Amino acid sequence: MKTGYIILIILFAGVFVLGCTPNTKEIQMQAFITAHVEKVKPMEKEANLAYWDAATSGKSEDYDKVGTLTLELRRVYSDPCDFAFLKEAKESGQVKEPVLARQMDVLYNAYLENQIEPELLKQIVELGTEIEKDFSTFRGTIDDEKVTNNRIKEILKTENDSAKRESAWLAGKQVGPEVSDNIIKLVKLRNKAARELGFENFHTLSLTTAEQDVKELDKIFNELYELTNEPFAKLKAELDAILAKQCSVDVSELMPWHYHDPFFQETPLVYDVDLDTYYRDKDVKELATKFYAGIGLPVESILANSDLYEREGKNPHAFSTDIDRQGDVRILCNLKNNENWMETILHELGHANYDKWHGDDVPYILREPAHIFTTEAIAMFFGRLSRNPAWMRQMLELTDQQQAEIEKVSFKYAQLKQLIFTRWAMVMYDFEKQLYANPDQDLNQLWWQMVEKYQFVKCPRGRDEPDWAAKIHFTIAPCYYHNYMLGELLASQLHHHLVHKILKLESDENVGYVGQKVVGDFLSEKVFKVSAVYRWNRMIEKATGEPLTPKYFVSEFIN
Ligand SMILES: [Zn+2]
Repeated sequence: MKTGYIILIILFAGVFVLGCTPNTKEIQMQAFITAHVEKVKPMEKEANLAYWDAATSGKSEDYDKVGTLTLELRRVYSDPCDFAFLKEAKESGQVKEPVLARQMDVLYNAYLENQIEPELLKQIVELGTEIEKDFSTFRGTIDDEKVTNNRIKEILKTENDSAKRESAWLAGKQVGPEVSDNIIKLVKLRNKAARELGFENFHTLSLTTAEQDVKELDKIFNELYELTNEPFAKLKAELDAILAKQCSVDVSELMPWHYHDPFFQETPLVYDVDLDTYYRDKDVKELATKFYAGIGLPVESILANSDLYEREGKNPHAFSTDIDRQGDVRILCNLKNNENWMETILHELGHANYDKWHGDDVPYILREPAHIFTTEAIAMFFGRLSRNPAWMRQMLELTDQQQAEIEKVSFKYAQLKQLIFTRWAMVMYDFEKQLYANPDQDLNQLWWQMVEKYQFVKCPRGRDEPDWAAKIHFTIAPCYYHNYMLGELLASQLHHHLVHKILKLESDENVGYVGQKVVGDFLSEKVFKVSAVYRWNRMIEKATGEPLTPKYFVSEFIN
């Protein structure tokens, strides 16, 4: 412990007003946290502002500044003495006051993931960067001609000739053998780092620092597997019949290249509907502003600081950022008046609202969403509305007949989209778990076992190639993919709770939440204001009456 804390200990000894008198460990912990916050608060704000400047300007000196500030922050969290203090305090079991213990846990995890020995960390970062570079520069070939990923995707979306589809699919997999040895090397380095910190492998370490537990996730994914097995088989049979007909092959001859993207993670375009016509003459920013005001979550102050339209050099995607955990929340978009950007602005403003309304009494360390996937869930919950027929009718002033037309196709599309994504997420979760458990096993075979088990897609006969390695996420976002799935599950659980318990309706038919202030009240009270005061599953249980469960996602999209 550092000397500066002693004075703070004396100061804070008198701060605990309610409840039992704090013990020595609790006093020390409070002092540690106070000193820590004093140090990181300005650093984090500066780093967030630098990132915002870089994303909006595109200037390389701004990006350099982000790099420097991120490294400085990382240095704080890699301090071994601070970590030893946190570890000792945590293991003593004496820090009992719930909000204080919660802050200790959050800090402990933040330090834990930064305790990797510097030389090993350097190797991990460098190898990761090298693989990422290989990904961005490699081009597959069709008949000896180089093709971009966009070209491959285009062929898979539009071509009816099976041989041409096969060549495109194969071109998309050619990066695999180029990067697979390095990915296995990276996995082993990450495992080494995890073992040095006392964990079985990197997968277990990652889940632990993210406050997730393999058993808890396995349970959710197993349940989801059981619940979606039959409906997926049925829907996929319908889809296969359409795809086979389009390419004039028998259903039994369908191969991985007959689906509309390289991994069968997206919905083939067969049921899609063009909703852009409904948004073309509208202003998506106005619509989002009006909608959020109507549910009691006004967004004017967020939008005032935001950067919404395309500009040379600006980041072409979208994100939301909490600059100071004290209300300076901004979103970046590149708005156009179409359905995709309607979804995106609703999505980003969902994140932004979560960050905007931290409870006044929540301490700095906990002024964050309960988990990365809980904020994703809120964003998805609102983003889904851009395709919701009832929402569209009310917001876009459509006729009943127009609503009925949208309904005819939108449900089928949503169902297919969610089922396909669910089965794909299972492949990613299960494969990655086993990849870190044993990187020396036959991974090529393991991959196709998973694809056949979860996606019902056949491995091409005799194929023994590292097709799994063509997925960049194993390199750039390790052990993260499952969070997208958990976000969808929670979005549905919140939707179910709002419909049945808050609006007290029998079904969600015609529910678009327009003008329903109770929706904003519920979310801000039960989700936003509690921030990270509870671990994610406790927050979900307190808000909806039960821990995270796949059953509402299944009932919303599948039954
Ligand atoms: Zn998001």
